[in-house]
Amino acid sequence: MTNNPTAPQNCEKKESDAFCATWKNGWTKLADTDCTAIAAYNNEYMAYLDKSKTERESIHEAIAIAQNAGFVKLETLKTFTPGAKVFFNHRGKALVLAVLGTESPLNGVLLSAAHVDAPRIDLKMRPLREDEEFAVLETHYYGGIKKYQWLQTPLALHGVVCLNNGKTVDIRIGDAPSDPVFFIPDVLPHLGKNQKGKTVADAFPGEELDVLIGSQPMANEEKHAVKKNVLKILNTRYGITEYDFLSAELEMVPAGRSRNVGLDESMIGGYGQDDRVCAYASLKALTDLQTTPQKTAIVVLADKEEIGSAGTTGMTSAFIDRFVEEIIALAKPNFTSLDSYRVWDKTKALSADVNAGVDPIFKSVHEMTNAARLGYGPVVTKYTGSGGKGGANDASAEFMGEIRCVLDAANIIWQTGALGRVDEGGGGTVARDLAARGADVVDFGVAVIGMHSLFEVTSKLDCYFMYKAIQAFFEHA
Ligand code: MN
Ligand code: MN
Repeated sequence: MTNNPTAPQNCEKKESDAFCATWKNGWTKLADTDCTAIAAYNNEYMAYLDKSKTERESIHEAIAIAQNAGFVKLETLKTFTPGAKVFFNHRGKALVLAVLGTESPLNGVLLSAAHVDAPRIDLKMRPLREDEEFAVLETHYYGGIKKYQWLQTPLALHGVVCLNNGKTVDIRIGDAPSDPVFFIPDVLPHLGKNQKGKTVADAFPGEELDVLIGSQPMANEEKHAVKKNVLKILNTRYGITEYDFLSAELEMVPAGRSRNVGLDESMIGGYGQDDRVCAYASLKALTDLQTTPQKTAIVVLADKEEIGSAGTTGMTSAFIDRFVEEIIALAKPNFTSLDSYRVWDKTKALSADVNAGVDPIFKSVHEMTNAARLGYGPVVTKYTGSGGKGGANDASAEFMGEIRCVLDAANIIWQTGALGRVDEGGGGTVARDLAARGADVVDFGVAVIGMHSLFEVTSKLDCYFMYKAIQAFFEHA
């Protein structure tokens, strides 16, 4: 690979302002009106983030925002009506929304897909046991976590429990200031000699990520009195029995709210920004569209990306194809599978997902000519993958050209990025699943520091321009 000829030092005679703009800190180029808009957007984004700690909560909030903006259930629409706003809720954990365009959908659609699941610690089906007079929950982690980050920090319990009377109970404990929280123990440094001698990979076995949730024995009970007391509290407050855990989805997530970061308050720190930062931007870009777009604009908020997009609510599921065919059917009731293939062939898509941002401490994992930086705008990532681009969607030069034109024409502050140094590691996104359907697709998202940690950090400038960029894509691609 040759050196990228677009580094800042080569920009002295500007070929085009936008070309050079990619390589400057975005904060240096803002107008006062931008600053006001950035602050307003991010306040709303942080409110969304705080209400959306699980995939279900993210979808629930997204539906509320969509309905507020006039979106209606897809099945209420009988013919293809330009300007119509519809959504399809797939099992409460994935959502597809569309604003129908002035053109026929048979000419292709525009799509932005983000995911709303995030790495976390799930409870097992038979989670509860008593150990040394503590009530303890057995867990199984979800997604790529650094296990030690989850020890000795306040955790909240979110999720649903399906009772055998057919009712579903929503659980959300640990985020209100008056709520209790939970924790996974770590060994104290004084007695950590054995732990210190191990590699990080060996020192924190997944099976030891057990959560302590109580220590007070029930009165007049001899055996498992602490566990019995915890079960009594759960039963009194939520009507849950121990047997009900097997029909539950309960997730341990970091307790607390997202926060402004830095004295300049230029950044946001919080859990689950991968990928709710892009999910919210996609949703807002669609729900804020002021005019009917030419092409039908679609947003997918999917689940299960962090474990490979499998499962009925993940991006490999047919619910996405079904939604697109429902739209096609509105315009052409007697369509064939060939029409579907043709629509996907003419479809342009953003895989709206985060990339790794440079931080000053661990910069050695990046190659600085191509690394993404906070405050430089959302990141266009031509390919992800690992090793020799293994598993990557590698966006075509032609599509990269189109995206670049759309972003520059709309005066978006943006940058390109690579996921770390070659052979340093890697990752994948739902770009693969959209590409498999025949669409043109490129990865596009916000740079994050501390991805998959309990406190992921983004730049407010990048969050805002992600939203503006997706809107420009829907209006002009
Ligand atoms: Mn992601
Ligand atoms: Mn991720």
